[in-house]
Order: sequence, then C-alpha cells, then structure tokens
Amino acid sequence: MCSRCGRGWAITAARGSCTRRRGGALPADVGELQTLPGIGPYTAGAIASLAFDRPAPLLDGNVARVLSRLFAIEGDVRAPRTRRRLWRLAGELLPRAKPRAFNEGLMELGALICRPATPLCPRCPLRKSCRAFAEDRVGDFPRRGKAAASKTVALLAAVVRDARGRLLVVQNPREGLFGGMWTAPEFAAPRRLTAAQKKEWLAEQLRAQFGADFLVGRRRTVRHDLSHRRLVVEAYDCSPAAKLRGRRRRWLDPNADLSDVALPAYARKILGLPRHRAFRSAVVDKKATKCAKLDPAEEKSLAEESVEVETWPVY
Ligand code: SF4
Repeated sequence: MCSRCGRGWAITAARGSCTRRRGGALPADVGELQTLPGIGPYTAGAIASLAFDRPAPLLDGNVARVLSRLFAIEGDVRAPRTRRRLWRLAGELLPRAKPRAFNEGLMELGALICRPATPLCPRCPLRKSCRAFAEDRVGDFPRRGKAAASKTVALLAAVVRDARGRLLVVQNPREGLFGGMWTAPEFAAPRRLTAAQKKEWLAEQLRAQFGADFLVGRRRTVRHDLSHRRLVVEAYDCSPAAKLRGRRRRWLDPNADLSDVALPAYARKILGLPRHRAFRSAVVDKKATKCAKLDPAEEKSLAEESVEVETWPVY
C-alpha cells in the first residue's frame, strides 16, 4: 500500500479501531461508523444500508440528481443548504422495510435512467411523481451555480392534422434532449428565408420524411424557455395530400386522454394541447418506486430502434 495514500491509511486505521474496540467486526450503526477514520456520511450510509440492510439514507451524485429532479429543487446542488435538504429527503423517503433494495434502486435509477445529460424519462418508473418531468424542466436540474446565458434556437414545426382531426407526432431518438418523447415534426430553421420560402422548405422536409406532399398553411409562433435555451418555434398548420410513410410516428386524438403520452410541454404548446396534468404530490408515493409498466404502444415504439427519423435538431 502506498504510504502517501490517505484512503489506504484510513482503511488501515479503521480496521485497527474495529479490531481494538469490536473484536474485528464493523459496526452497523451510522453514527458509530462515522467515528471510524475516513468514513463520512455517504460511506456510513452506504455501509449501513447496503451491507447491513439498515434504514440509513445515502446520497451520492446519482441520488442527488434523481432527488433534485423529482422535487425540482432550485438550490445549487453543491451548496451546503441544498445538500442538507437532499439528505433530509433521502431519509424521509427511505422505507423501514428493505432499505438496501431502496437505496440500490435509487442509485441504479440515477446511473441508468435518470442520467445526467440524457435522462430516459419515458422509461422511468418515477415519472408520474417527478416534478421536473411534469413541468418539462428536467434539463434545469440539478442546479449548479450560476446559470449560463440563454441561447435562442429557431425551429420550424408542422402541426399536421389528418381528415379526422388527429394530430401527427413523431418520436425523438432515445439519445439526446427529450429522448424517446413525442413531438410535432420539427426542423432547425435555415436563416434568412422569406415567409414563402419557409413554407416551401418545410413542405420539402415533410415530403422527404413522410413520402407525401403537404399543404402548408397558417403560421403561429410559440416561445418556450428551457434551462439554457429559448425555443422560438414557427408552427405551421399542415395537411397531407396522401398516406404517410415512415415509422416512429403516430396520430393523436386531441380530445382523448393523452396523459400517458410522453409529450414535452413545448410540444403540447406547438400542438395546441392542454398542459400536462398537474404534478400531483410533492411526496413520492413509495409504491411508485416499483417498476411502472409502459403502455404497449409506447413500449413497441421504443423498441423500433432500427428506423431513423430526424425529429430533433442537434444543439
Ligand atoms: S422522470 Fe426523468 S427526470 Fe424524473 S426521475 Fe425519472 S428519469 Fe429522472
């Protein structure tokens, strides 16, 4: 062991302490664990809950990210005050039964689903309880210091209705912003086009994507603020002249209950749909920590990975 390695020294010192005081056994109590050299709150919580299945909270980077999104915590995630709040929440949510499974689940969720840059919200078992998701502000959390200056992104979108009044939505690729979610067909707008040229350009994009001609009509402008971006979307009413081709698309009945369709708030604005139903409770229903089933259509569409459809421009 390297004599300069503080961690190695701490492990040796902790082992010596356990040998002297406890006959070589590691304590299971969080408070006692923290009296050992090199063991802080996180390690103590991890040992107590993961090794001994004791109801001890733990807060690593993954858990902090999940909680800050779940509760839309506005404070800087590195600030002591926010850390205290996160610890408190981690403790309040912890069930008395099976704390090990709960903590492991939360860490795994942060590592595999609630990922830093590309969270897989449509597949997340907590999405119905997630405030950041409900408010379409997943990218805002966790907060870190001063927010960067906002950048404006211009898009052209097509609000396509069929003869029955249904709205066309397409699914974003899984990776990237709003991965796996459904939006109106949209495209990064080229600069310096006249109004007439924009319509022609949009019709061309739609023809290339869906293999049909479109009538491009009235325009509406929608603005939506994300954490570091302001979206300015020119949304055109469009109607197809023929049957559409291409997968990863679906028609939505605007009068149906769409609460289970993963539509970000800005897409709802573009499509003229009401906002997502209100965030129901600031407290996570512990039942929600069990895996929720995706609806079969969504599961099927998520599985259609082989088809590439350009629905979200690269920022
Ligand atoms: S819904 Fe999205 S942001 Fe919320 S906890 Fe799940 S993955 Fe994270």
